[in-house]
Amino acid sequence: PSTLYIVATPIGNLGDITLRAIETLKNVDLIAAEDTRHSGLLLQHFAIEGRLYPLHDHNEQQKTEALIEKLKSGLSIALISDAGTPLINDPGYHLVKACYQNQITVVPVPGACAAITALSVSGLPTDRFCYEGFLPAKSKARIDLLTQLKQEPRTVVFYESTHRILDSLQDMLNVYGPEKIVVLAKELTKSWETIIHSPLKDLIEWLKADDNRRKGEFVLIVEGYDKVNEQEIDPDAIKLLNRLQQEIP
Ligand code: SAM
Repeated sequence: PSTLYIVATPIGNLGDITLRAIETLKNVDLIAAEDTRHSGLLLQHFAIEGRLYPLHDHNEQQKTEALIEKLKSGLSIALISDAGTPLINDPGYHLVKACYQNQITVVPVPGACAAITALSVSGLPTDRFCYEGFLPAKSKARIDLLTQLKQEPRTVVFYESTHRILDSLQDMLNVYGPEKIVVLAKELTKSWETIIHSPLKDLIEWLKADDNRRKGEFVLIVEGYDKVNEQEIDPDAIKLLNRLQQEIP
């Protein structure tokens, strides 16, 4: 009672649901979901007869109060999103925060998350990374953000949609140069799963070669800034080096 479960669901392949997720969804009094129609199908697939309650980005703040009242009255609630882990670019932040303010227990039921799934097969350093979610929709804001991140030494993870994938990669090319290593992970766990690890210039060529390649859901992972290899060498230093080389016998 009085527990909010944050339950991860699959990001494509339904086989990725966990035993604990099914058990939790079967046992709670109420399931708060982003899209009740979409989640209804998931529940149906696993023969879960849960009561659904809509909670999306636009109404989360106002629905939080009602959900907190239900939790306080002793109901247990599970929060799920359309795919993957709730709160990772999905609703739930206001609700979880409010639980702490109201002494309500929050229990994680972990599972799939596109960012972590992509990172695990990226072939880029994973000891330190940062997550940036979706890049801004407008090119100017996108370039500003990419420029701010230019000297970020950690691996950087972005989410991207089918509409902007090419524009975002073009902006990355302009800011980071053609040789920057980027990993594109699309349709993870689904039939058309594709993971490409290559310099930006080749990645863009690959994407342009076939319209179908731009369709689907994407994670983009950018190699961190490497001080030793990427630092632009001071032109004065190069001049000095050349002179020294000429003078040394
Ligand atoms: N909560 C989700 C998670 O845990 O990853 C993310 C939800 S966010 C609204 C949706 C975005 O996640 C997509 O636009 C895409 O960038 C990424 N994504 C979700 N599923 C994916 C998949 N199967 N393959 C690649 N990217 C995926």
